[in-house]
Amino acid sequence: THFGYREVPVAEKQKLVGRVFTSVASKYDLMNDLMSFGVHRLWKRHFAAVSGVRAGDRVLDLAGGTGDIAALLKPRVGAQGEVVVGDINAAMLGVGRDRLTDRGLVEGLRYAQLNAEALPFPDGTFDAVTIAFGLRNVTDKDRALGEMHRVLKTGGRALILEFSQVRQDWLKPLYDFHSFQVLPRLGRLFAHDEDSYRYLAESIRKHPDQAALKAMMERAGFAHVEVRNLSAGIVAIHRGYRV
Ligand code: SAM
Repeated sequence: THFGYREVPVAEKQKLVGRVFTSVASKYDLMNDLMSFGVHRLWKRHFAAVSGVRAGDRVLDLAGGTGDIAALLKPRVGAQGEVVVGDINAAMLGVGRDRLTDRGLVEGLRYAQLNAEALPFPDGTFDAVTIAFGLRNVTDKDRALGEMHRVLKTGGRALILEFSQVRQDWLKPLYDFHSFQVLPRLGRLFAHDEDSYRYLAESIRKHPDQAALKAMMERAGFAHVEVRNLSAGIVAIHRGYRV
């Protein structure tokens, strides 16, 4: 029991994941800003910048419920392109759709309630598939990666933005303190939900690190997989191609 870490059985985990995102859907922005000191916005912008998404592309943004990634990618695909926002949670999808609509983003956007583990699209549909802060919550990650690979066109690419393993020793105690002391308190104060934010910290520690996720992508069939650390590895971008 390192820092209160505990194994969560799969069924209980699925319930927890559902509860986390239903309870935080409306406070999502505030919490993300508080938890990351606003830096999540920079991570997402960097993610979009290295996505290689171009005019005319058809893009699938998985776990895209907040609309943040779609808002960054839509201008890149232009009038000829399309961004499909997919999320398992209808409330999150609704929040994202409202926010994108409020920003005047309507044309060329579609929404699909879906499970990343079983995508409702034929093989070879998309030029790019993105998933930001979502893979961590997917129960069967290998299956989700296989599905991402399947729905990509030949030459298409998958991009994953996710918490990873901190690479700087000096940062680790600070990061652990933030995760296990500060996060649950922020959750209690601002979202009235301490457990959900404790769960977030635990799920980050359980998520495969840089090398493990790269190996998983390769097993799922991706080629030329590259990893880029942001903020000393607090998050990482994995990019791989279907060839
Ligand atoms: N990508 C957005 C962002 O970066 O702001 C949202 C990230 S949010 C932390 C995680 C999202 O993953 C939630 O909206 C949740 O509903 C969704 N999610 C969890 N499990 C999923 C699954 N199996 N398939 C699709 N979406 C899932």
